[in-house]
Parts: sequence; structure tokens; C-alpha cells
Amino acid sequence: MINDLNEDKRQINSNLKSIRSQIVNATKKSGRLLQDISIIGVTKTIDVDKMEMLYDEGIISFGENKVQELMDKYDRFQDRIKWHLIGHLQTNKVKYIVGKVELIHSVDSIDVLGEIDKRARKLGIIQNVLIQVNVSGEETKYGFSPDEVAHVIKVAKDYKSIKVKGLMTMAPNYENVENTRPVFRGLKDLYDNISKGNHENVKMEVLSMGMTHDYEVAIEEGSNMIRLGTAIFGKKNVDIRE
Ligand SMILES: *Cc1c(COP(=O)(O)O)cnc(C)c1O
Repeated sequence: MINDLNEDKRQINSNLKSIRSQIVNATKKSGRLLQDISIIGVTKTIDVDKMEMLYDEGIISFGENKVQELMDKYDRFQDRIKWHLIGHLQTNKVKYIVGKVELIHSVDSIDVLGEIDKRARKLGIIQNVLIQVNVSGEETKYGFSPDEVAHVIKVAKDYKSIKVKGLMTMAPNYENVENTRPVFRGLKDLYDNISKGNHENVKMEVLSMGMTHDYEVAIEEGSNMIRLGTAIFGKKNVDIRE
């Protein structure tokens, strides 16, 4: 057992080293630095021992895609770490996470946005959110179409207990990763356009795009927040829960 744990620790450490060097290469191409890119450690299905190892490596932002799993793990880590909800959020589950998570990446309906605002107001806080955009139009993906985002930004002015901090997308899992480039570029253009305007309750600071398969391209195209699971922890075990 002890040996297994040491092996996990060694693996996570060495994975992070190579991720950081890949990030450095990608940022050079877009004139930025390693520290301009936030790494969200995606910890869905990952046990708390490994999460502690990641924390020890200095990654303090964890992303979960299910509310229940986030809640279970929250009890252990509390606010030692910054929690990110990155998966689809049902309106009836909003109440469990508002005020607990640093950032909700996955706002994909006006209803959910309104519910987050309502719950945040009750708590007397401002909840930071991103608008999820389905740039590629894949039917299996959540998110607003790029055309709908202007409307969401407009609606946000009535929601004083939220702050829209940016945009998030997931690119299709193309075999040739170069095919993701137009997707990321499309979101960056949208982000820049919104940034030019002056919108209430909106402050564009976060462009959340890039996962294990495509984070280098995403960074080259302007991402400043990447969400990495497999790259950090390796391929999932066979007893994957889902
Ligand atoms: C699982 C997940 C990730 C991380 O995926 P990897 O390919 O394991 O890096 C990133 N973003 C979202 C929304 C996810 O659900």
C-alpha cells in the first residue's frame, strides 16, 4: 500500500512537471507566461488521497462535474481549496453549491443563472460564474450557442448577485487536435467582443478552455484557465463510477 501511494505521488509530480513545460511552450506562442494560466485539477472520480497529493503539489483549485461528489469532498477539504463546478448544473441543485464554489463554469440556461442569483442574494454574496458556450454545435454538449451569448450578457444586468467572469467551452474530441483550433479561436473572439463593451455584472477575466487532449492548442488560442484530469492523474481505473 505504502509503495502504491509513493508511486501515485511520484506519478502526479512527474505529470505536473511535463504539463508545466508544455504550458511554457504554448504560452510563448501567445506571448504570455506560465503564471498567466490557471490549472484546475479535475478530480471527478479521484479519491481524496490523490487529491491531497495534488494539493501538496501546490494545485489548490479543484474541478468537479457532479454536485453530489463535490459536496462529499467539500466536507473533507472545506475552503482549503478553491472549488470549481465544471459539469452541467440542474436548477434544483444550485442551492447546494452557491457560496461554496469559487466559480461555476457551466451556466447553460437563463433559468440556472436566475436561480444562482436568487440563492446568492439570500446569502448576501456575489457568486462568480462563466457562461458555457457550445461553439462547435455538437448535440451532445451543453451550453449556449455563440449567437445566444449576447442575450445572456444583456439579461445578466438584472442579476446583481452574480458576476459573469468569462466564458467556458469544451471542444469536440477530434482525433487531430488541430481541428479544435477554430473552436477555441471562436470563443476567444466572442470573449474579446464582450470585453470591449461595458456590461453590468459582467467582468471578463476568465477564458476556460482546454482539457488533457487539447490544452496546448487552447492556450495558444488565448485560454487562461485549463481543466486537466487525465493529464494529472493518468487514465481512470476500471472501476470508474458513472
Ligand atoms: C472531465 C472534464 C475535464 C477534464 O478532462 P480530461 O480529459 O481528463 O483532462 C475538463 N472539463 C470538463 C467539463 C470535464 O467534465
